[in-house]
Amino acid sequence: MTIPTLTLNDGHTIPQLGFGVFKVDPAETERIVLDALDAGYRHIDTAAIYGNEEGVGRAIAASGIPRDELFVTTKLWNDRQGGDEPLAAIDESLDRLGLDHVDLYLVHWPAPKNGDYVNAWEKLVAIRETGKTRSIGVSNHLPAHLTEIVQATGVTPAVDQIELHPAYQQRETVAFAGSHGILIEAWGPLGQGKYDLFGTPAVAAAAAAHGKTPAQTVLRWHLQKGNIVFPKSNSPARVRENLDVFDFELTPAEIAAIDVLDPGDGSGRVGSHPNDVS
Ligand code: NAD
Repeated sequence: MTIPTLTLNDGHTIPQLGFGVFKVDPAETERIVLDALDAGYRHIDTAAIYGNEEGVGRAIAASGIPRDELFVTTKLWNDRQGGDEPLAAIDESLDRLGLDHVDLYLVHWPAPKNGDYVNAWEKLVAIRETGKTRSIGVSNHLPAHLTEIVQATGVTPAVDQIELHPAYQQRETVAFAGSHGILIEAWGPLGQGKYDLFGTPAVAAAAAAHGKTPAQTVLRWHLQKGNIVFPKSNSPARVRENLDVFDFELTPAEIAAIDVLDPGDGSGRVGSHPNDVS
């Protein structure tokens, strides 16, 4: 099984499907990530705030997989955006991960009430120069935030990692990103299990037509939309199920039936609004 890669605006490539570790218990992280690597995942999405970078690092070391075959993302937390704090935060993340560089470093939230996200982006640009990360990007940034950081630095993020699933498709941010060469990473790709996505007729019908599970069907919808995804699961069976999405293709009609599941009024959002997070 080969996981497709996408090319970022800086020329580096990223596996389109990975494994996310939000809310993975730090005490369980090494075992769960090692199992994901054993299943075939090569892209891990963590963050300083998840508290499990050490476990991710131990799993990477124990796996014996050559570093250049792995893609590791971590993120700068909101309370480290000011002054030179990002320069210290990346070193601390690398220490916890046991790595000399990550593949992608993200500003986790714009946290506009703190007023530091432009500084944070300037510091990420400097961090990339040191080689401590290959690529830099942002998360939870809306078009206004993206416009501001690009105007301030002339550097466009490689990705914007945003909440995105069938009930909340963030069309304005996706369109902005698409027209500026920013790839979309969809967090909560399965809606974090917080609404009845899998029982939705459009999802259930497409799943039945292809002999796949509803989760596989939704992940396939993301992949065909061009989104990067890293579903999370603690269950070894689901970890494998979520990787088994490269042997079928949704039809344009099946894609269109899922496209209309967002009511368009923001009511499908399961996480926080970016302007409310500090
Ligand atoms: P998700 O949509 O991946 O949902 C995970 C939940 O879906 C699991 O806990 C499980 O209950 C269910 N699930 C997973 N596989 C399933 C399957 N095959 N069948 C049935 N149910 C299944 O949500 P997430 O974990 O929040 O998002 C994925 C990743 O995105 C995270 O682990 C993290 O890396 C990242 N993330 C980033 C941010 C951010 O602010 N940048 C926020 C949240 C998550």
